Amino acid sequence: MAPSPLTRRSLITTAVAGAAASLAPSARSSSPQAALPVAVGSVNALAAVQRAVERMLAGDLPVDAAVAGVSLNEDDPNEIGVGYGGIPNEEGVVQLDAAVMDGTTMAAGAVAALEGIRHPSHVALEVMRRTTRVLLVGEGAKRFALAHGFKEENLLTERARKIWLHWKDTASPSDDWLPDPAALDDPDLKWFLERDGGDAFNPHGTVHVSALDAAGRVGCCTSTSGLYFKLPGRVGDSPLIGCGLYCDGEVGSAGATGHGESCILAAGAHTVVEFMRHGATPTEACLETLRRVVRNTRRPFLLDAKGRPKNGLSLYALNLKGEVGAAATYRGRRFAVCRAGAPARLEEAAYLFASRD
Ligand code: ASP
Repeated sequence: MAPSPLTRRSLITTAVAGAAASLAPSARSSSPQAALPVAVGSVNALAAVQRAVERMLAGDLPVDAAVAGVSLNEDDPNEIGVGYGGIPNEEGVVQLDAAVMDGTTMAAGAVAALEGIRHPSHVALEVMRRTTRVLLVGEGAKRFALAHGFKEENLLTERARKIWLHWKDTASPSDDWLPDPAALDDPDLKWFLERDGGDAFNPHGTVHVSALDAAGRVGCCTSTSGLYFKLPGRVGDSPLIGCGLYCDGEVGSAGATGHGESCILAAGAHTVVEFMRHGATPTEACLETLRRVVRNTRRPFLLDAKGRPKNGLSLYALNLKGEVGAAATYRGRRFAVCRAGAPARLEEAAYLFASRD
């Protein structure tokens, strides 16, 4: 039996009880006639989407353009959720995850828990192009990278080491680690605590870019150092095809940042693409996927006092018409967009819940 088409109306009326689904005005106004190429991504991808569009204009495939954009974040030591300077795992080791996908060939490549290589997205591209496989992890991923000429380097910056040490020192009153009394005067630590310290070291920083060129080809890339102080070996959604990213040359492209486990359990990016396949706009597809994520969030430790997810997820998408959109669990998230002929800009994402109160 043919799948029943999802109409705009059915999508909009399936709101989760109590959720205030909202389309940001800017997201609603995306024009089908919009200029191409176009790239959409996470809030930290402003420079990345700009570069992706420049590279597509210069002739790069969307997947290569997305990687070129994401590389900027991987190189930046102030981007502490991705690449060089990323916050390490529980043991102070930086473990990186990244994936790429090409919607024309439906090929993908990914690496997870990769240590000592600054650009996991470049390694993911090599996995896609130089192997018959999709995902390499840990030591095997590193050996593959070294075999292909990638250089090993120490990715733990002094700032990230100090942040990790402070977390370690203060994690438990019953272990043997004591905090440095002067730690809070340290500018690196102050910088981090002001940025991320409020909400139990609430992490953010994964970068995603989805790209569409003027020939109608799509590609995408997601890269991350994962959750701060994660369990060694923990892998989130970012390098998992269908979760942290997915694209299909017949439909469009999507990606995710935020609580990885929630995204994995709803196959987030794939679900967004499937909703678009059935007629949803990018924004509607992101919202409908988030509704499913909310319905799937049932384990008590994941829920707040009102039964809503404690953790947020953000989804980004574009379709072959060049429409873009994004949505987040909670209000206040933004996303990056760049179209040919205009500078990259940030827009407000649609959301399910207007506030955490
Ligand atoms: N999604 C990433 C992960 O779960 C983290 C993030 O986006 O903040 O590893």
